[in-house]
Amino acid sequence: MTKRIEDLCAEPARLPAVGGEPLAPPLCLSSVYRCRTPAQAEAMLAGDEAGYVYSRVGHPAADMLADKLRQLHGSEQAAVAASGMAALAALLLTELQQGDHVVVSRQLYGTTLDLVTDEAARLGITSTVVDTLDLAATRAACQPGTRLLVVETITNPMLRVSDLAALAECAQGCGARLVVDNTFASPVVCRPIEWGADWVVESLTKIISGHSDVVLGALCGPADAAPRLQRVLARWGLGSSPFDCWLALRGLATLPLRSRQASSTAHRVAEFLSEQNPVAAVHYPGLASHPDHALAVRQFGDSCGTLVSFTLAGGRKAAEALLAAVQGEIPFCPSLGALSTTLSHPQSTSHRTLSSGEQRALGIEPGTLRLSVGIESAEQVLATLARGLRPAEGT
Ligand SMILES: *Cc1c(COP(=O)(O)O)cnc(C)c1O
Repeated sequence: MTKRIEDLCAEPARLPAVGGEPLAPPLCLSSVYRCRTPAQAEAMLAGDEAGYVYSRVGHPAADMLADKLRQLHGSEQAAVAASGMAALAALLLTELQQGDHVVVSRQLYGTTLDLVTDEAARLGITSTVVDTLDLAATRAACQPGTRLLVVETITNPMLRVSDLAALAECAQGCGARLVVDNTFASPVVCRPIEWGADWVVESLTKIISGHSDVVLGALCGPADAAPRLQRVLARWGLGSSPFDCWLALRGLATLPLRSRQASSTAHRVAEFLSEQNPVAAVHYPGLASHPDHALAVRQFGDSCGTLVSFTLAGGRKAAEALLAAVQGEIPFCPSLGALSTTLSHPQSTSHRTLSSGEQRALGIEPGTLRLSVGIESAEQVLATLARGLRPAEGT
């Protein structure tokens, strides 16, 4: 042995310089990259030459994933961030400055509302919270100084559908940009840019990664914002980890198969629940009884998503009894987009900080449950729910 043991160990391993390109994307965890010369380092750091220097600023897995999402959403550019919230934060920091005004939907994911009305407010960004299902109210809330209108394609947990084309008009009317959080739909169910959105945000944590082992987010938007967005991600340190991106790429490969299977089961589950006595109301955009059914058909086609909400007539006691009865097959998990079906109880989780009056105004009752349908057979999901809804039989 001519080298010292510590020198040999410390020496970076090199990929064998032989033919044969891997079919699967290589997982490159390197935090830093070799530069050929100072001139090349300078050019890459300035963005004049394509290449990687430091993974907080950029790495191959993020670029591969962003490019897939850019194509899926038909946007001019896309970027990946450390989480759905990091993507939303990066968007606010890219588009806004002190004194700007934003209009946000009352139905937004709670943490997004907190990000805008609490965190961004500390930086001098003002906001108006409005029911964006009410287009007249939304139009009235958009002022000349409004920069962004922020909505979700499908709301939580009532699964109401945003009229994206009409909302894009509201935003354009005051020179604002329309931001659509598309997490509950995914690009399989809806491509908001086709309806006039300027930005699409996805929490890749949910159905896009789809295996409950990644926290990651993405932004798809206009080309003019790309340089600023890249600077924001690098400077505020909101970028992604290579391993998370690599897992998300793997998940994304089967997204259409998983989404279609789960949506088809969700539709059957919604129809089944509508016929059950203990169920007082079912919320699924694919049902003709849903208030936004016609809009859903227009915007989504025949796949209305993988979430179904329903309210049990027996209130919280009945909800807890159902959760307990099915917990072996359908875990109580306050998230969505897992491989297997999961249940959530909005009153005790996502909407717990709201007063009961505010909850009721959003349609959330103590007996409301939200089902995130997975890729098991429809037969198994239906059988488990049927068993869980049967009144306890003399045991
Ligand atoms: C989960 C979620 C987010 C936040 O995403 P994270 O990846 O958890 O940061 C934002 N919006 C919606 C609609 C979500 O469901």
